[in-house]
Amino acid sequence: MKQKKKNKIYIIDVTNRDGVQTAKLGLAKLEKTMINIMLNDMGVYQSEFGFPLTKHETNYINANLELADVGLLSPMILEGWSRAMAKDIDESYKNTDIKHWNLSISTSKQMTDGKFGRRITRDFESKDKPSVLGLMADAVKTAKKHGALTIGVNAEDASRTDMEFLIKFAKYAREHGADRIRYCDTLGYDDPFSIYERIKTLAEEVKISIELHCHNDLGLAVACSIAGAKGAIDGGVDAYINTTLNGMGERAGNADMVSVILAVKKSSGFESKYKLDDRIKLKKAWRIAKYASYAFGVPIPVNQVAVGDNAFAHESGIHADGALKDRRNYELYDFEELGRGDPELIDTGRKITAGEYSGIKGFRNVYGKLEIEFKDDKEAAKVLDLVRYANVHTQKPLTNDELKFIAHYPKQAKQIMTVTP
Ligand SMILES: [Zn+2]
Repeated sequence: MKQKKKNKIYIIDVTNRDGVQTAKLGLAKLEKTMINIMLNDMGVYQSEFGFPLTKHETNYINANLELADVGLLSPMILEGWSRAMAKDIDESYKNTDIKHWNLSISTSKQMTDGKFGRRITRDFESKDKPSVLGLMADAVKTAKKHGALTIGVNAEDASRTDMEFLIKFAKYAREHGADRIRYCDTLGYDDPFSIYERIKTLAEEVKISIELHCHNDLGLAVACSIAGAKGAIDGGVDAYINTTLNGMGERAGNADMVSVILAVKKSSGFESKYKLDDRIKLKKAWRIAKYASYAFGVPIPVNQVAVGDNAFAHESGIHADGALKDRRNYELYDFEELGRGDPELIDTGRKITAGEYSGIKGFRNVYGKLEIEFKDDKEAAKVLDLVRYANVHTQKPLTNDELKFIAHYPKQAKQIMTVTP
């Protein structure tokens, strides 16, 4: 086996930020919380878990930070997204005490002219107008002043930004204390070859860790993410790939997390050369993909990488025969590695569920099956009340994981579901 390179590839999942920006789809705060818990169980490095400036996120964000303090959401880093505007950061700290940020600003001429109507410049070319560089540096300084521990600076539309400015932007961010640069292929414009070259150049010139944020408009999000990561590591820095569960995200979506992990672990050019964060537990893939599908209300396509119904199905004579003789004939990896293979138990007789109009008897039956007991009727009644609210909140039958979470963390569950306009 060849020597592995020393820099690593880490996963920053953005389902709870970019994923929930998907048109016509969204997640309840309880569902976002469950996703954070499952991402942490999976060994993901960081979750971009919300918008600290947005008032209806405040209780969810603060309760999740508390769950990190009590150890449930640890060691995963919980990071908030904001525009790179000092006033947005100041305002956010009135609601929450966020320690990790990604701060975003457009860097392409297309966007600074087209989106901001030339009200801002990119470089410091005008005394009267704010500049991309100035706004970004102010935002980083402001977050640091409030005690932020890590900051990623996002170059929105980086793939359509000239390299000269992109390098200048990244250097300026580093000089002002940014820990990483997020290269956003906002429109999914890059291809694996272009992103490799651009990221390698950026890494060599700036010597700062790089996040790859790729969209799937050309069906290349996963390919571009790993090609970009290769560019970062070949250029001598760590790579952080932004993923979403089941590839959810705006328009055609983002890079699917499970596909990215498999591509790094199993593809011919990566498996022995590039190192994935070794905390990642692929075994949790099946469970988290299923939950995300349920929570978003979006079925997993039958041919979805690794977790689709057909991902390990063989029917034609030659393939079935070959797979039975030796699974390596027609399977690149094992379904057991993904946590697949256990039979799913479905009640076929009487079924008692817990919902918004449940009573105490049925409720105790539901929790009894989960082997959770309450110390007295008062405690049971309190949790039942929360379960009713949770059902109103998610508008779906509650999953066993959700029911367990509510029973174990009633205080935080209550806070997460509380939204006061
Ligand atoms: Zn995005």
